[in-house]
Amino acid sequence: MTNPQPLGGNEMPRFGGIATFMRLPATSSAVDVDVGVVGVPFDLGTSNRPGARFGPRGIRDESVLLRPYNMATRAAPFDSLRIDDLGDVATNPFNLADSVDRIEAHYASLLAHGVVPATLGGDHTIALPILRAMAKRHGPLGMVHIDAHTDINDTMFGEQITHGTPFRRAVEEGLLDGDRVVQIGMRGTGYAADDFDWSRDQGFRVVQIEECWHRSLMPLMEEVRDKVGGGPVYLSFDIDGLDPSFAPGTGTPEVGGLTVPQALEIIRGCRGLDVVGCDLVEVAPIYDTSGATALTAANLVYEMLCILPGVEYRDPPG
Ligand code: MN
Ligand code: MN
Repeated sequence: MTNPQPLGGNEMPRFGGIATFMRLPATSSAVDVDVGVVGVPFDLGTSNRPGARFGPRGIRDESVLLRPYNMATRAAPFDSLRIDDLGDVATNPFNLADSVDRIEAHYASLLAHGVVPATLGGDHTIALPILRAMAKRHGPLGMVHIDAHTDINDTMFGEQITHGTPFRRAVEEGLLDGDRVVQIGMRGTGYAADDFDWSRDQGFRVVQIEECWHRSLMPLMEEVRDKVGGGPVYLSFDIDGLDPSFAPGTGTPEVGGLTVPQALEIIRGCRGLDVVGCDLVEVAPIYDTSGATALTAANLVYEMLCILPGVEYRDPPG
């Protein structure tokens, strides 16, 4: 059985055909799929600028330029695993709570087939139902979380389920193993000076952005692997972790963020971990006049595919 392969630019021009992720053939069945790219078009949990409901389409659109092999790491994800685009979750655009239930049920069915989900968001609210489904299958998860925000608010406008609260709920519900969680990129202004300390009280390692400025993050990733290893890990990447000069197309941008090379170091630094699922959230193409945010997001999702367990790396010459 041949694995699904991205459609090459010599078979159909890159601007032609249906824009699945990386122009994969797309299948509606999770049977025999190792890794499913899944869109969650949902933004009812955003607190400022909406538009992440268009994230999956935007990322798929910009992903048409991607080719199968990673020239830096020599990863060959599509030779190694059956990876396909499994389409979108049918969220309810009129009901946040119903959408959250629908997302959890959808992921539970994917996980029942043993699929590793690679999610295109959607706002960060979606991490809660995804983690609910993942923890039911895998137990409490470690997590590498890249974001400008910790997303551990208790409530926002009195609501418990928003894009700023998923990881508070996840801890309360026992979905995360706090001693195996790292948050990277936190910055900006807070409601209180100790806003990030709740995370630290749960055992999380919080890497504020100042710790990342002007340096390679490869040494940090050694520490991250030590901290989150030893069990299943979820990788959650909020595009606003990047600096808005790289990723302006998002709802709650914060200045002074990660660079694209640092983002690549973080994801490549997750190689060797037992990553059982990953997401790229908060891309809002309507603020993304050049498409650069979605293009970057598509590349970061590709890099996530490259570090999943079971991916082979081609030998360098000599
Ligand atoms: Mn977030
Ligand atoms: Mn954020």
